[in-house]
Amino acid sequence: MSNRLNTTPNDLRAFWMPFTANRQFKQNPRMMVAAKDMHFTSSDGRQILDGTAGLWCVNAGHCRPKITEAIRQQAGELDYAPAFQMGHPKAFELANRLVDIAPEGMNHVLFTNSGSESVETALKVALAYHRTKGEGARSRLIGRERGYHGVNFGGISVGGIVSNRKMFGTLLTGVDHMPHTHLPGQNAFTKGQPEHGGDIASELERIVTLHDASTIAAVIVEPVAGSTGVLIPPVGYLKKLREICTKHGILLIFDEVITGFGRLGSPFAAQHYDVMPDIITTAKGLTNGVIPMGAVFVTSEIHDAFMQGPEHMIEFMHGYTYSGNPIASAAALATLDTYKEEGLLTRAAEIAPYWEEQLHSLRDCPHVIDIRNTGLIGAIELEPIAGEPTKRAFSAFLKAYEDGLLIRTTGDIIALSPPLIISKDQIDELFDKLRKVLEGID
Ligand code: PLP
Repeated sequence: MSNRLNTTPNDLRAFWMPFTANRQFKQNPRMMVAAKDMHFTSSDGRQILDGTAGLWCVNAGHCRPKITEAIRQQAGELDYAPAFQMGHPKAFELANRLVDIAPEGMNHVLFTNSGSESVETALKVALAYHRTKGEGARSRLIGRERGYHGVNFGGISVGGIVSNRKMFGTLLTGVDHMPHTHLPGQNAFTKGQPEHGGDIASELERIVTLHDASTIAAVIVEPVAGSTGVLIPPVGYLKKLREICTKHGILLIFDEVITGFGRLGSPFAAQHYDVMPDIITTAKGLTNGVIPMGAVFVTSEIHDAFMQGPEHMIEFMHGYTYSGNPIASAAALATLDTYKEEGLLTRAAEIAPYWEEQLHSLRDCPHVIDIRNTGLIGAIELEPIAGEPTKRAFSAFLKAYEDGLLIRTTGDIIALSPPLIISKDQIDELFDKLRKVLEGID
């Protein structure tokens, strides 16, 4: 493949790329130079079908005119306003608009700049909430094996991916983990929610008994775990977690950084599964991935608990220089307009049956040991090459890119999450390409 940018490894030496095999990449870079709707243009002039909405974020497709224009305008009008003790109208308008589409009762929003920051913010809100209520002993946080909650210290502490944790010391203390819900032996090739595993939620009861509820602040889970290969909650699982948390006064946090903004066919997974958490973390699709921004939703009960004491005092000692940044707010408002005008927050529900059918048609492809799906998310799990885990999926990723398709792999799992504008023809194209990829790798 020619590389029209004519870069040499030396030209690429300074940028230490995130979550990337840097040396491999720099030998043979995969550069995007433009994008429009469902496609990227690569530096060698090819159209690459976006099977992953960038990194689960470009939900409305690429370079959408309304969003681009809003950013352009805002940058020329009010580029920045201090986030502390000052405001600007768009951040307030955005918070109101977000509350309107959020699950009922999620009445307040804190702004951040990423999913990782949303998670840190949510964990800190949870800890401080209990303290404001005179229950400061509730300092324990419960995550889940195979959970991904970003890369900051709180997030990797409650997260359950060993490779993201093991290099970084002892992390937060007072954290425990529930078991994950992935049961391939019983649930392989399930369409939608797996039938087996709902009772794994009762492991939370065991953990509560071990530590005592009076020491536990919050439980955090992704309603659908994305980064560890699309783990869909078994029937009854999330409801059971909710019941246990309610019974013991523990806050339930849904990390909706990938499920937020229409991925499952409802604005949020909480609505899709009809389970109401106390806090929701979001980012990514909030601005269509175009400008860094995250949002944390909390209930009135949580918010109001902080609104006490002298009125000149800051109620919550937390925030970022860029919380509710004007340009990010403008991008998010234009994104919400685009979602609304095109019905994108519910479109996944319409197209999901077709997506499911085409995805599962790859069941007979070489190396495939499981396929799972929900909304506009799909996962194809490959049998690892003996002694070389991840290598087979990485070969699939490289071959797909060569063949004009962007997929994402985690371990030996291919994860798919295209923009919510994908057409049936493009779904066909995606799976035709993927079939050839799977047939073409060792
Ligand atoms: N939480 C979840 C569930 C995610 O999937 C991600 C990113 O994929 C994050 C948090 C971290 O988001 P960011 O990369 O924007 O920090």
